[in-house]
Amino acid sequence: MKVYSYCPVCGTPLKTAKIEYRTRKTCPSCSWIHYENPLPVAVAYTENLSGELLVVRRAHHPAYNEWALPGGFLESGESPQEGCLRELQEETSLNGKIVHLIGAYHRESKMYGSLLVVAYKVIVREGNLRINHELYEAGFYPYESIPQINIPLHQKIIEDARNHEYQHPL
Ligand SMILES: [Zn+2]
Repeated sequence: MKVYSYCPVCGTPLKTAKIEYRTRKTCPSCSWIHYENPLPVAVAYTENLSGELLVVRRAHHPAYNEWALPGGFLESGESPQEGCLRELQEETSLNGKIVHLIGAYHRESKMYGSLLVVAYKVIVREGNLRINHELYEAGFYPYESIPQINIPLHQKIIEDARNHEYQHPL
C-alpha cells in the first residue's frame, strides 16, 4: 500500500479532505486525488480430468509454507481470466481452461492491504506438472485427501466451488 506525502503528478505537498464519504489525500495544486483501491488477485481452483484438485505448498510470503490454491496478482492490461491462467502456468507449467467463475471476494492482507480476489474453476486436460521457485510442491489430490488448507479465503473458495458443482451438476 503506497502512502503519499507529495502529489505523484506535480510534487505539491498533499492535503487531507473528505471526498465522496471518505478521508482522502488530495493535491491543492492539480486536484489529484489518492483513491485507495483493492489490488486484484486471481485464484485458480484447478481440477484434472479425474476431478482431483490442484493444491500447492507456497515457498513465499505471505502464507509461507501453507497449502493453497494457485494464484496471484493481475498485471495491467490482462483480463482476470488471462491472469488466472497465467499464474497457473507460471507456478505449475500447466495450461488450463476457464470453466466458470466461482466468486469475487474481499480480503485484507497485512502485506498488501485490501485485495479483490476473483476465483475461477479451471480444468487441466494434460501436461506435466513442473513447479517454479514460488512453490515447494504441488499435486492433484482427490477431495478426501487434500492437504490441510489453513488460508480462510481458500477454504471458502473450495467450499463455494463444491457447492456450485452440487447446485449445477454437469
Ligand atoms: Zn498535484
